[in-house]
Amino acid sequence: MIKINDNFTRLSASYLFSDIARKVSEFTAAHPDTSVIRMGIGDVTRPICPAAIDAMHQAVEHEARSETFCGYGPEQGYGFLRQAIAEHDYRQHGIDIDSDEIFISDGAKSDTGNIGDILSTGCKVAVTDPVYPVYVDTNVMAGRAGALRPDGRRDNIEYLTCTEDNGFIPDLPRTSPDIIYLCYPNNPTGTALTRSQLAVWIDYALSHGSLLLFDSAYEAYITDSDVPHSIYEISGARECAIEFRSFSKTAGFTGVRCGYTVVPRSLTGISSSGERIPLHTLWLRRQSTKFNGASYISQRAAEALYTPQGRKQVTDTISYYAENAALLRQSLSNAGLSVYGGINSPYLWVKTPGAASSWDFFNTLLHRCHIVGTPGSGFGPSGEGYLRLTAFSSHEATAEAARRITSML
Ligand code: PLP
Repeated sequence: MIKINDNFTRLSASYLFSDIARKVSEFTAAHPDTSVIRMGIGDVTRPICPAAIDAMHQAVEHEARSETFCGYGPEQGYGFLRQAIAEHDYRQHGIDIDSDEIFISDGAKSDTGNIGDILSTGCKVAVTDPVYPVYVDTNVMAGRAGALRPDGRRDNIEYLTCTEDNGFIPDLPRTSPDIIYLCYPNNPTGTALTRSQLAVWIDYALSHGSLLLFDSAYEAYITDSDVPHSIYEISGARECAIEFRSFSKTAGFTGVRCGYTVVPRSLTGISSSGERIPLHTLWLRRQSTKFNGASYISQRAAEALYTPQGRKQVTDTISYYAENAALLRQSLSNAGLSVYGGINSPYLWVKTPGAASSWDFFNTLLHRCHIVGTPGSGFGPSGEGYLRLTAFSSHEATAEAARRITSML
């Protein structure tokens, strides 16, 4: 008999986006002439910028000729991209990260999900609540998480509650976890951490020997000057943090696939025999064993984002979404809703009116405004009573959505 990894049977079925899709298709089947505005799934809608498209065309041409053909690339990523990242995302901001500490990947989902391979299955984990579900599910797969409790949380994981009461900024852990996942700017709440707020976590991690897994997939949306773009802007982070970044929401690479992870050489863990081992060594070994690199075409496209034209085009697209976020935030707040996020973030975290549950408000928006959001309860128990809207639509659809919601209230 084939023995399976029982941890997979302990995962809770992920119904959120399929339930949403089913409700929307039932609604559109019953109302075929209604225009539905989709602000639920966190996918971008603007096309990839011309600089990256041109680079992809050229890369395809390279693959078409024997003199320039590229087969397997370096598992850690091509030097041309790692150097561009080190220069533009770090060195130019005075941050000490070497290109050798950067690992190119096919996106932040894989890396945030796979990083646990190099950490003991005995590690204690803390996540924020609500949370990007990948962090919890991959720890269930690894056997670090315990049983699902009736309150929707799991044994052996510390949930750091983020609600209106604490401004969606979690309190420090109580159980001294070994691994702490932080995602800022946050999905789903849209909250960002200032430099001094993030410094508190670095102090905590250094004094408790914890590892911070810092997901900054939405870094490109930061506009406030006191919000750091990288955790390594804060001293001490090189000794306690891994940073994950993605070109998905920055440059519309959700289909192209490219991201990167920074593992500083100065970051160490301890083996069961008490030996200090650099996590960089382990991650390099893990990646070169299990990963054959992101595609050459994607990496050339990502490189082009760092050219002057690429940078300008990316900024324009981010500003486009930021205008949507600002419009939604303003209109919904004026209409009396409590709206969080939407600044430094493409996500708005809307408190449901009255005592409505997340799903109640989802249904109201769908049936009365023909707008699709994501029920906050799908991101964890503390998401109950909220709904996430994204700014990834067109200006026209966003303005229309704002009009429909405000006229309903
Ligand atoms: N991390 C967070 C917090 C996300 O919201 C997402 C995508 O929605 C990802 C990572 C995945 O990014 P990628 O497309 O690079 O895999």
